[in-house]
Amino acid sequence: MADRVLVTLDGEVRDADAPLLHADDFGVLRGDGVFETLLVRKGRACAVELHLARLAASAEAADLLEPDRDAWRRAIGVALKEWGDEREGVLRLVYTRGREGADVPTAFLLMTPVAERVEKARRDGVSVVTLERGFSADLAQRAPWQLLGAKTLSYATNMAALRHAESVGADDVVFTSSEGYVLEGPRSTVLVARGRSLVTPPPEQGILPGTTQQALFDLAGERDLVARYEPLRPADLVVADGVWLISSVALAVRVHTLDGHALTPRFPVGELEKLVDEAVDAAR
Ligand code: PLP
Repeated sequence: MADRVLVTLDGEVRDADAPLLHADDFGVLRGDGVFETLLVRKGRACAVELHLARLAASAEAADLLEPDRDAWRRAIGVALKEWGDEREGVLRLVYTRGREGADVPTAFLLMTPVAERVEKARRDGVSVVTLERGFSADLAQRAPWQLLGAKTLSYATNMAALRHAESVGADDVVFTSSEGYVLEGPRSTVLVARGRSLVTPPPEQGILPGTTQQALFDLAGERDLVARYEPLRPADLVVADGVWLISSVALAVRVHTLDGHALTPRFPVGELEKLVDEAVDAAR
């Protein structure tokens, strides 16, 4: 079984070990492009339509050509077939501005195994540090060119924050705005429970609208839970009944420690994790 599957948007399966990009692709030169990351399990991709909608929104924000959703759906089908239905996978949809002077986007899909780090986080939860993101919560509204709500390929800062967390002995990060609001993780949405309410920061605060959070909020109402957006401070996380980092691949990861303080989970153990699991299946 191949441990990586590479498919271009035309549906052609490529050799994942052979070069694919040109040296003048703006995706490489400037991180100029957008992407999505989906979970694949039991031979199916989770929440495809939510991801394609966000890909289109990111592309619009970045002034890229509107993605051809049917072509992406077909190419996803090809990648799934190549991957099989026995193991989980991570499917990245990559859409760059293309080569210098060409005006043709570069578009491909790459499937890889789920990292061990993710399995461990799902099982054991994570310790988290709060780190400054360096902008105010209202910047996204004032400065659309910052592309704050778009999933662009420029993730170097997010990765650097994760390395910093690791250097101080933590597993993950919660970014805060310059006024001290909780924003998001470098690759996840922050979610807290207060009684039977689920709360996440408003996307207008310059964070990526999470597909997992969207799927969860769509289902929560049917399960005697109230889901809402509300600005949060780190102190709100400390007193919450539960804190999670939620995302497409890791799903719901419990935060057990925040800035060195052990958190006390009062929300029924496993309930949220199960709900997120169901929600991403329902969002197919
Ligand atoms: N915020 C950021 C910065 C992310 O990178 C991600 C996921 O990669 C998320 C939030 C969560 O989004 P989703 O649930 O769609 O994976």
